[in-house]
Amino acid sequence: MPILNGDSMAPANVDALDFSKALEVLEKEYPERDGIDAKTLIDSARNGGLTYNDFLMVPGYIGFPASDVTLESPVTKRIALKTPFISSPMDTVTEHNMAIHLALLGGLGVIHHNCSSDEQAEMVRKVKRFENGFILDPVVISPTTTVAEAKALKEKWGFGGFPVTENGTLRSKLVGIITPRDVQFHDNLNDPVSAVMSTDLVTARQGIDLVEANSILSKSKKGKLPIVDENFNLIALLSRSDLMKNMHYPLASKLPHSKQLISAAAIGTRPEDKIRLQKLVDAGLDIVILDSSQGNSMYQIEMIKYIKEKYPGLDVIGGNVVTREQAATLIAAGVDGLRIGMGSGSACITQEVMAVGRPQATSVYNVAQFSKRFGVPCIADGGIQNVGHIVKGLAMGATTVMMGGLLAGTTESPGQYFVGRDGQLVKAYRGMGSIDAMEDKKAAAGNKDAKASNAGTARYFSEGDRVLVAQGVSGSVQDRGSITKFVPYLMAGVQHSLQDIGVKSLVDLREGVVNGSVRFELRTASAQAEGGVHGLHSFDKKLYS
Ligand code: GDP
Ligand code: 5GP
Repeated sequence: MPILNGDSMAPANVDALDFSKALEVLEKEYPERDGIDAKTLIDSARNGGLTYNDFLMVPGYIGFPASDVTLESPVTKRIALKTPFISSPMDTVTEHNMAIHLALLGGLGVIHHNCSSDEQAEMVRKVKRFENGFILDPVVISPTTTVAEAKALKEKWGFGGFPVTENGTLRSKLVGIITPRDVQFHDNLNDPVSAVMSTDLVTARQGIDLVEANSILSKSKKGKLPIVDENFNLIALLSRSDLMKNMHYPLASKLPHSKQLISAAAIGTRPEDKIRLQKLVDAGLDIVILDSSQGNSMYQIEMIKYIKEKYPGLDVIGGNVVTREQAATLIAAGVDGLRIGMGSGSACITQEVMAVGRPQATSVYNVAQFSKRFGVPCIADGGIQNVGHIVKGLAMGATTVMMGGLLAGTTESPGQYFVGRDGQLVKAYRGMGSIDAMEDKKAAAGNKDAKASNAGTARYFSEGDRVLVAQGVSGSVQDRGSITKFVPYLMAGVQHSLQDIGVKSLVDLREGVVNGSVRFELRTASAQAEGGVHGLHSFDKKLYS
């Protein structure tokens, strides 16, 4: 029975067609897959460059659930992450709080250097010392502390559970614990806490993991679980009131055989940055990023060689680069990773002011396909406005993506929310080459570390100039809530996208792009308009719940 009637495209003898031959016909008569391969895509703009918005990826075959898609990917020759998300070394994006939470979610936060070297080292130390759920620097008192003092401490800190150790310090022998109830109705305020503290302690040994420690805590019916070493010295504390918050983070970025989070920080390429780097290494730094808007310089080459020689255990990411030639120089100097992008950042005016830069998709494709030959992973840095851009950056060959503006509006970025011009909740976001950021370094002029703190000017090579030439703007970005929700949204979005494309991992995506099985299509201006929301009177764009 014919399926199509009247003025249809179906041949008259549609009954006689063998529909089961569709795949055979496709194979025999259409040897070229629909769409174009990545090289043809990039070459099609031979006299120009492509941005992420200039193309789309063609769907493939879905043969697995989105949850099966894995996003593990290398960030340097030696270090891989479980999720390919990196936050920019910018003073409105990444300090220790962002670095800790992004690492817990499987990504990496690169701590900015628009601060003194001591401040930056302290942030690195905080990342390395962080152990989810465990309070590593609890307030500790001594047996001779008086009840009055314990009450005053409760007033000061807002909590009243204090471990008591022989010396009144961490890493000294645990002798008891004081709770608010022990001191609440104790009238003799001059009594030492040793007279009222509990000594029937439930403790756990150092090295215990969070899941096990939480389970001991919930069974013990106590408010606190002190963690002790083999000599019963206090090492850390776990609090019952945190039980619900002590989430288990299976994707957390850690080096094999280490319980600590991976830490990364940015520095410049001036002589004083060597002193800064020593402090960061002493604090436990794992990856250093050489923060330069044009990385192909004698300064950077010298710095890469110096670091590889002096700190062979430290991974170095060079950049920024946008051409094969720039990349080749840094690869030859010994980088463990590259950062790609010039002028594509959301707060950036480099292309406008300096007349140099390159559209990001073309930059990523050219650099990443070249550096792949040497096993050097690449970060697609800047211009990421949504999940689709992340996927396109990865499809062009980057192994990870770096985001500034997209993460600046989250709770974990530095700074406070405020109400923007349109009444919406926003946070400040500024380019590191903006006048604001560069002038902040000037304000630190009296500080002996000021020279080393001029991240903005050093990155944009204008510190010797009488006039500061801006390469960025300062503004604000919308509130995006906590990254503990936003990053899982990005992750789920990338998994669904890869499922649509028909690849099960980022390795398969990169391979499919090289062997031509992952297909693309150029996107005309009207195709872009068609692909966006159109024709609606009004709408809300809620991205996840
Ligand atoms: P407490 O019973 O009065 O000690 O207070 P709660 O257990 O109800 O709350 C203490 C909160 O403060 C928890 O979220 C702890 O993680 C947090 N906290 C941070 N530092 C410390 C510390 O040094 N000691 C204690 N007891 N809690 C801390
Ligand atoms: P976004 O994710 O906001 O699009 O871009 C973030 C990236 O922009 C950063 O990682 C950095 O490479 C770049 N960037 C940060 N500040 C400036 C600036 O002032 N000027 C320029 N040209 N780029 C900047």
